[in-house]
Amino acid sequence: MKSLTLLAPAKVNYLLEVIRRRPDGYHDLRMVMQRVNLCDTITITLTETPDISVNCGKRGVPDGPGNIAWKAARAMLDLTDHGQGAVIDITKNIPVAAGLGGGSSDAATVLMGMNELLGLGLLEQRLMEIGVTLGADVPFFIFQKTALAEGIGEELTTMPAMPAAWVLLVNPGVHVSTAWVYRSLQLTNRAGLDKLPELFRSVEDICSIFSNDLETVTIPAFPVIAEIKETMLREGAAGAMMSGSGPTVFGLFRDRESAERARNVLTQETGWFTAVVETI
Ligand code: ATP
Repeated sequence: MKSLTLLAPAKVNYLLEVIRRRPDGYHDLRMVMQRVNLCDTITITLTETPDISVNCGKRGVPDGPGNIAWKAARAMLDLTDHGQGAVIDITKNIPVAAGLGGGSSDAATVLMGMNELLGLGLLEQRLMEIGVTLGADVPFFIFQKTALAEGIGEELTTMPAMPAAWVLLVNPGVHVSTAWVYRSLQLTNRAGLDKLPELFRSVEDICSIFSNDLETVTIPAFPVIAEIKETMLREGAAGAMMSGSGPTVFGLFRDRESAERARNVLTQETGWFTAVVETI
């Protein structure tokens, strides 16, 4: 039986601007998205029977057709007439519903893995078209580069090279519904960052674009998000912000030691999920 094991990385948002509400219920966004090396592990095994099964074993993540990885496998198997199926084993290391894009990354990884296992030879553009039908962030994980994402997230442009950084992730574990965040957002005509820099020489240059419109909803409801940002800055982060619709907060550090020091402070007595990772 043909099988493939792949890593599905998480992402953080260096920039997240909500431009407008669209008639279809989605929002037009402008985001700068960066992958980090906190990864789910996914093993895909092709089977001779037509069913798909997902084994994830993580609370809050469905194992059947509700899993976005299941939907990705279905989309790819529907392109063949061999009557094959797949077993997908997922080890979830990325916190769930955390603003780190874990589900989208799993889906993108299954699309790319199935493309290879089934020998379909679909090009990146086609995989991204299939991906956006599963979730707005899926194309970014197929793109596999630091990107400016526009539209609902599917219009991707490569960002200029950025220096590598150490990233401290802290998830306080409060439940934040993405749908609630977008529903509650007051769209203002505030001028966003007009033009993105063309050169990023330092970690500070990266932090100069930090902005997340969704913090206007989450921080008043969950002040702990602002408290984590303040602690990270006090402990030496060059910048700190909420990722996606939260609640995970990330800080950028110039070196591993200072990221670890800040992690120790934030882990003490809280029991929160924390990780020090690198940009990829
Ligand atoms: P984003 O940053 O794109 O908003 P997120 O990190 O906040 O995403 P996910 O971890 O992708 O959120 O999970 C969102 C929801 O999707 C969860 O409620 C979960 O039950 C469901 N889900 C379905 N499949 C998966 C998967 N493979 N991994 C994680 N969550 C999944």
